Amino acid sequence: MTNVAAELLEAGLITEVAPENRGTQLGRPTTRLQLTPAEHFVLAVQIGAGVLQVGVVDLTSHVVGSELTDFALPATPEAVMGLAVVMLRRVMGSAGVGMHQVVGLGVGAAGLVDQEQRINLNSQNLGWADVAMADYFERELGVDVLVDHNVRAMAAGEAQYGVGRGLESLVFVYVRTGIGAGLILGGREYRGGTHGAAEIGHMRVEPQGRECNCGGIGCFETVLSDRVIPARMVEEGLLVKLPEPNDRTWPAALVAAVQRDEPRAIALRDEIVQYTASSLLNIINLLNPQVIVLGGLLHDLAPIILDDLRSSIPPQVLPRLRDSIRIEPASFGTEAGMIGAATVALDRFVFGEHVLQTTR
Ligand SMILES: [Zn+2]
Repeated sequence: MTNVAAELLEAGLITEVAPENRGTQLGRPTTRLQLTPAEHFVLAVQIGAGVLQVGVVDLTSHVVGSELTDFALPATPEAVMGLAVVMLRRVMGSAGVGMHQVVGLGVGAAGLVDQEQRINLNSQNLGWADVAMADYFERELGVDVLVDHNVRAMAAGEAQYGVGRGLESLVFVYVRTGIGAGLILGGREYRGGTHGAAEIGHMRVEPQGRECNCGGIGCFETVLSDRVIPARMVEEGLLVKLPEPNDRTWPAALVAAVQRDEPRAIALRDEIVQYTASSLLNIINLLNPQVIVLGGLLHDLAPIILDDLRSSIPPQVLPRLRDSIRIEPASFGTEAGMIGAATVALDRFVFGEHVLQTTR
């Protein structure tokens, strides 16, 4: 048994089970260890633009309780984090989980996070800067906290528990009010030089396009987001008016319209596929990941875009790379952010990087 296993055993995070019957085989019997998921938990908080999700997750990444709510913008960080604490206490109460069973809390923040993973430096869509998130939650809940970029955390969740299990490289593309990407390269989270994840939302896809809030022209975000697509649907007569901020039914309305063969819906779908394909091509040519995972709006629209992306992209890539391209919708759907926040907390507070490397 390794020292690490002994420590986990002592902490009650794993238990020894009876060794397998090895018949007449010689040698020392192997100790079999298994996680004791029902004894300890991590808490997860995912903060998006106007959306907050919290959860209680066991050591096998199984969600034992969760809650999702919308909040009106603008909102102060204190108001949103305070709401998260109230929701967490409620979810723990209904799941019968006590604070003594909690080993840590992971926060998936929208925007840049400092290297020590304690401060949300900048959140463009929320208008927040330098929010000391770890300090706040540690003070309120009395548990260890780490903060990660929400999309990078989603990538970690997919790489360990979802479609990327066992793979060394994965790119998670997340479309909501903005577009972000989380990268797993060489089996590790890629952290970039300036704290952020990959800003693929600002890759240029339309040289003559609209001005973006970053100062660039024709960025991916100017043609695809939770703001742009409903506006296009209104223009095309596919929606009567712009949806309320908490109305998430419009992607399903677009899927249904395409499935009914409405020409305007199909034209809009083709537009989405074309822009998405050109961004994914850049990612493939730059990084050649084993899988690209589609999250957020791309996940919601998967029924009408996935086949086209899978057939249109490979012919535009070098023959040798073509066969290995895998494009998959996110495994955890609307829970991707929460599972991601739980994953980074499990890594830090339960398994530790050294253990992860030996179990992969
Ligand atoms: Zn931009």
